[in-house]
Amino acid sequence: MAFQSNYLHDLMERIIARNPGESEFHQAVREVLESLEPVIETRPELIRHGVIESLVEPERLIKFRVPWLTDDGKVYVNRGYRVQFNSAIGPYKGGLRFHPSVNESIIKFLGFEQIFKNSLTGLPIGGGKGGADFDPKGKSDAEVMRFCQSFMTELSRWIGPNTDVPAGDIGVGAREVGYMYGQYKRLRSESSGVITGKGLAFGGSLVRTEATGYGLCYFTDEMLKNAGRTFAGARVVISGSGNVAIYAAEKATELGAVIVALSDSGGYIYDAEGIDLALVKRLKEVERARISQYVVHRPDATFTPAGSDSGNIWNVTCDIALPCATQNELHEADARALVDNGCYAVAEGANMPCTPEAIAVFQKSGVLFGPAKAANAGGVATSALEMSQNSQRYCWTYDEVDCKLKTIMQDIFKNASAAAQEYGREGDLIAGANIAGFLKVADAMLAQGAV
Ligand code: NDP
Repeated sequence: MAFQSNYLHDLMERIIARNPGESEFHQAVREVLESLEPVIETRPELIRHGVIESLVEPERLIKFRVPWLTDDGKVYVNRGYRVQFNSAIGPYKGGLRFHPSVNESIIKFLGFEQIFKNSLTGLPIGGGKGGADFDPKGKSDAEVMRFCQSFMTELSRWIGPNTDVPAGDIGVGAREVGYMYGQYKRLRSESSGVITGKGLAFGGSLVRTEATGYGLCYFTDEMLKNAGRTFAGARVVISGSGNVAIYAAEKATELGAVIVALSDSGGYIYDAEGIDLALVKRLKEVERARISQYVVHRPDATFTPAGSDSGNIWNVTCDIALPCATQNELHEADARALVDNGCYAVAEGANMPCTPEAIAVFQKSGVLFGPAKAANAGGVATSALEMSQNSQRYCWTYDEVDCKLKTIMQDIFKNASAAAQEYGREGDLIAGANIAGFLKVADAMLAQGAV
C-alpha cells in the first residue's frame, strides 16, 4: 500500500536507507506507519515534535559476544543482542529468543512491535527484545546452562527490575529462564524479579506458562463472539508445537474446538479425531522430541514433512487458523488455500507470522483477523503481573491471574475495535491495535520532552 502522506512516505524511505538489509524491521515499521495515516492528519504536533522519528529509533541497542564451552571442551562463540526500544511508559519488557535465525533485523522488528503490544495491555511497560543466534536444540543441559550463564554475564550489566525485565520467547523456556535467573542472582546478590517466566518456587507467576496461548484464545473468542460465532465445534489448525501453540490448543479445546493439526519446523501432524494434547505435551515438554513422533503413538494420524509436494499445514481444511510458530510463516498462497477451504477467522499467536500479502487476502475475503500485537499480548501482560507480584513479595492464586488475563484480553479487543472505528477503519483490528497502542506511547513521549 502506498502512503497518502508525504511525511510518512519520506520517513519510511529514510528508515530503509538508515537500516539497510533489515527487511523484517522495515515490514514491521511499514505496517504501523500505514495505520497512523489518519492519526497524523488530526495530530500535526506529533510531526513537529519528531515523535514518530524517535519511536522508530531504538533508545539503545546492545550487541555482544557470547563464548561458551561444549561438553567436549570446544569453545563456540555466538552473538547476543538486547534492544531497549522505548521506555516512555515503563521499564523495557520483552522476551529473549535463542534461534539460529536471530539477527539485528529480527530483534529490532520484535522490539518495535513490543512497544505497541505492551502499551495495549494497559500496564506500565516499555518495549524491548533480545536473544542470540544460539540453537538450544541438540545441546545437552550442561551446554545450555553454560551458554545461558555466559549470555547473562554480559546482559546483567544492562538490565534490572526497574530498568529492563526480559522473559522467554522461541528457544527460551523454563529451563533457560532458570539458568539465566540463577546467574543474575549470583552476579548481583539480589533476588529481584529481573526476568519473568521463572519457576513457581522462585518468584514465577501461576498462568505465565499458559498465558500467551490462553490469551490468544480469550482474544479470538471475543473477536468470534462479536461476529456471532464461537469456538464451539470449530475445527482449528495451529502451527508450531511450542509454548504458544500448546496452550492455545489447550484453551481452544476447553472452549469446544477440535484441534486437527499442529507442526514444528520438520513438518505437520493431522489427526481428524482431534489432536491428543497430553501426548504432544509429553513429546515436546518432557522428551524434547520432534512432532513426527506423534504418529508412532497415534497410527491413525498422519505426518507430512516440511517441503512436501502435498502442501503444508495451511492446506488442512479448518474454520479457524492460529499461526503460532514464527515470523512470515503464512504466505499469500497459504492464505488463499485457507480461504478456499472455508476458514473464517485467523488470529496471530506468533509475532508477524502472516506476510502483508497474506493479510491482504484475508482482509479482501472478509476473514476475521486478530493481529499479533493484540492477540498474543497475554504473555507479556502476565509477565507484568509476575513483576507486580515480585514487587509485592506475594503470589496471587491461579484464578486471580487467569481472571486478570481474560479481562486484559477482552479490553484489548474493545480498545482496538474502538480505535479502528474512531479513525475510520471500522473492523480493521490491525489499524485499531496499532493506533490504540501508539497513542498512549506518543502522548507519554510528548509529555516527557525530546529525550
Ligand atoms: P517455542 O520455542 O516454544 O516454540 C516455537 C515453535 O515454532 C516450535 O514448534 C518450532 O519448531 C516452531 N518454529 C520456530 N521457528 C520455526 C521456523 N523457522 N519454521 C518452522 N517452525 C518454526 O516458542 P514460543 O511458542 O514461545 O513462540 C512462538 C511464537 O510466539 C514466536 O513468534 C514468539 O515470538 C511468539 N510469542 C511468544 C510468547 C511467549 O510467551 N512465549 C509471547 C508472545 C509471542 P522447532 O522446534 O522445530 O524449531
